[in-house]
Amino acid sequence: AVDDGWQAVDGFIADRLLPEDSVLAECLERCSAAGLPDIAVSAAQGRFLQMLVALSGARRVLEIGTLGGYSTIHLARGLAPGGQLVTLEAQASFAQVALANFRAAGLADRIELHIGEALTNLPGLTGPFDLTFIDADKPNNCAYVDHALHLSRPGALIVVDNVVREGTVLEPADNDESAIGTRALYAHVFQHARLEATALQTVGGKGWDGMMFLRVKS
Ligand code: SAM
Repeated sequence: AVDDGWQAVDGFIADRLLPEDSVLAECLERCSAAGLPDIAVSAAQGRFLQMLVALSGARRVLEIGTLGGYSTIHLARGLAPGGQLVTLEAQASFAQVALANFRAAGLADRIELHIGEALTNLPGLTGPFDLTFIDADKPNNCAYVDHALHLSRPGALIVVDNVVREGTVLEPADNDESAIGTRALYAHVFQHARLEATALQTVGGKGWDGMMFLRVKS
């Protein structure tokens, strides 16, 4: 559920801090026109991801779960000059929308999109990556973190979206595979020899959720 107040404050933040951006607006319009689900990150979260890429000086970014490329455009905009982004999407029809969005954003030369199951494509990727954003099917979260870790340089950042799920991570229902997979991630990363971990819960236009942050130790 999205509280009216959370929604209003997200609107306030976007109005006051995020300049109008025709590329991002057209990206969302193209996604909506193609019937994609409305599950991209928010504008404020997208800007945050862009800043994480820029602040970390990342030159190689990996994304698992492209949808229509809204988060991808933010991540790619944060890249250092000459940087590259690899993004993975299972649904070919979503990927076509994303490719159109990358072209319209003038970012097609920096983004490599792999269509297919992420777990099929991940073993063929060449690292190292400086930052990975994981935002795909949640039951595979532990496997995605393992692949990301394998592909990361020491000091890299791995961000995992939707790790609060309106509090359902506390006690997932038996049939809630996304909450079960997300809850498993906490146990998986806790005291992992190569990961330093935290998570921040958020409220906003996307409801009550959060992101996990994993730093790959040297
Ligand atoms: N990161 C996107 C954004 O914020 O703009 C949103 C991604 S959406 C929440 C999750 C995406 O992961 C969907 O497009 C879905 O098709 C894709 N996905 C789900 N399972 C997948 C899999 N096994 N391999 C690759 N992509 C998958």
